[in-house]
Amino acid sequence: MKRRDFLKSALTLAALAPLTPLAAKAGADGDKSSDLLSGKGVVRRRYKETAMTVPLLGFGMMRLPRKDPDRPEIDYAVARKMFDRAMAAGCNYFDTAYMYHAGLSEKCAGELLSKYPRDSYYLVSKMPAWFARKEADLEKIFSTQLARCKTDYFDFYMIHSLGEANWKLSQKFRVYEFLAKKKAEGRIRKLGFSFHDAPELLRKIVAAHTWDFAQIQLNYLDWELYRSKEQYEILTKAGIPVIVMEPLRGGALASLNPEATKILEQAAPGQSNASWAFRFAGSLPNVLTILSGMTFPQHLEDNIRTFTDFKPLTDADRKVLDRALIAYRKSLAVPCTACRYCLPCPAGVAIPTIFGAYNQYKISKNKFLFLGSYRTLPEESRASECVECGKCAKHCPQHIDIPKELSKIQEEIDLISGKKKALVTPPDGDLHV
Ligand code: SF4
Ligand code: SF4
Repeated sequence: MKRRDFLKSALTLAALAPLTPLAAKAGADGDKSSDLLSGKGVVRRRYKETAMTVPLLGFGMMRLPRKDPDRPEIDYAVARKMFDRAMAAGCNYFDTAYMYHAGLSEKCAGELLSKYPRDSYYLVSKMPAWFARKEADLEKIFSTQLARCKTDYFDFYMIHSLGEANWKLSQKFRVYEFLAKKKAEGRIRKLGFSFHDAPELLRKIVAAHTWDFAQIQLNYLDWELYRSKEQYEILTKAGIPVIVMEPLRGGALASLNPEATKILEQAAPGQSNASWAFRFAGSLPNVLTILSGMTFPQHLEDNIRTFTDFKPLTDADRKVLDRALIAYRKSLAVPCTACRYCLPCPAGVAIPTIFGAYNQYKISKNKFLFLGSYRTLPEESRASECVECGKCAKHCPQHIDIPKELSKIQEEIDLISGKKKALVTPPDGDLHV
C-alpha cells in the first residue's frame, strides 16, 4: 500500500474510550536507561550477562524496497545502499523469514551481507512449521534457508508465529527438538519463538522449553489494548529477552491522526511520530532489539537519528504520549479493549480475538495477514457462529453492539476472501513499520 493511502485509512477509523495512562503502566521499569550502550552509531543492549551486544534498532526484512509494489522482487540498488548505511551506523541485526518477499528476502540477506565478515552482523530467520507436511520437511526448509542466506549458521532463529494452531503443529512436528539439535550442532546461536496470541498461551510456551529470547508485538497502543504489557512481564519474569515486532503497529503509529500528531509535534517539534513509538519500546529494559521494516532510505535515516541519540521516555514524555494515545484511540474501527467481560459466549465465538484481528486489519489494510490469522481460529470460534443471542453485549463496558459488529466483520470476510488472488506473499507495501 502507498504511504499516503495508509495515512488515509488510518484517519478514517471510528471512536474509542479512554485508557489507563501509560505513565502509570510502563513507568515502573521504563525509565532505566543505564543499560544502554552508546558509542559509534545506534545504541546497543547487552544480551544478558554476556559479551554479546545487539543494536536496539533491528532491520526488519519483510518490506524491503521494490520497483513494483505489487511484485515481491526487491530493488537491490536501493536495498544495497540501505544495508550498507545500516551496517555503517551499527544497525547490524537483520531479521528475515522463509516467506518474506516470497523467499527473496532471505536470498537478499545472502546477496547483500555476504561481503561483510560473518561475525560482523547478526542474521535472523524463522521456521514456518505450517510449510511442513511431515517432520522430515523441517530439515529441507532449514537447509534451504542456510543456502539462501549464504551462511552455515543463524545468530537468532525462532519458531515462526506461534499461536494456538501453530503451537499444536510445532508440537506435532517436534520443531523445538529439531531446532535444539541444530543449536547443539552450532547452526543456531540463540533459539526462540515469535508469538501472536494471548498471554495465557504464552505462559504455556514459556514453561514448555528453555528459550533464549522471544519476539512479540509490542507498542504503546497494544500495551493495554492487546495485552502486550502482560506478555512483556511474563517474559521478563522468566528471564527471556524480548525482541519487539510491530513497534509502529503496521505503520499506524508513524502516521496517527491529526489530533494525536499535533500533541506530539508540540511537545517535541521536528521529532517524527515514529520516534515516539520507538522510544516507548526502547525504554523497556528487557527489550533487546526493536525491529523496523524499512522500505525507504528516509525511514532508515529517521530511525538511525532516533536510535543514535536515544532518549528514553521521561515521565513528562509519557504524559504527552498518554494524551496522544487517547486522541488516536478515538479513531479505531471497533472500540474493543480486550477486557473479555463478554466471554464466555454460549456459541463459542472468540469475540475479542476477532475484534483485535479486525482492528489490526483496518490499520494495516493487509487482508492476507488478516485472513491468515483469522483462519487460525477454530471454525466454531468464528464470527459466523454468532446466533445473535445478545448475551455478550450486556456485559460490554464499551457498549459495543457485538452481534452487529460480528455480522459486519463476517460480511467483510466473505467479501475479501471471495477475491481469488494468486499472490504468494502479501502486498504489504511501503509502510514505515
Ligand atoms: S450475541 Fe453472538 S457473540 Fe454474543 S454471546 Fe450471543 S452468540 Fe455469542
Ligand atoms: S466486553 Fe467489549 S470491550 Fe471487552 S472484550 Fe468484549 S467486546 Fe471487547
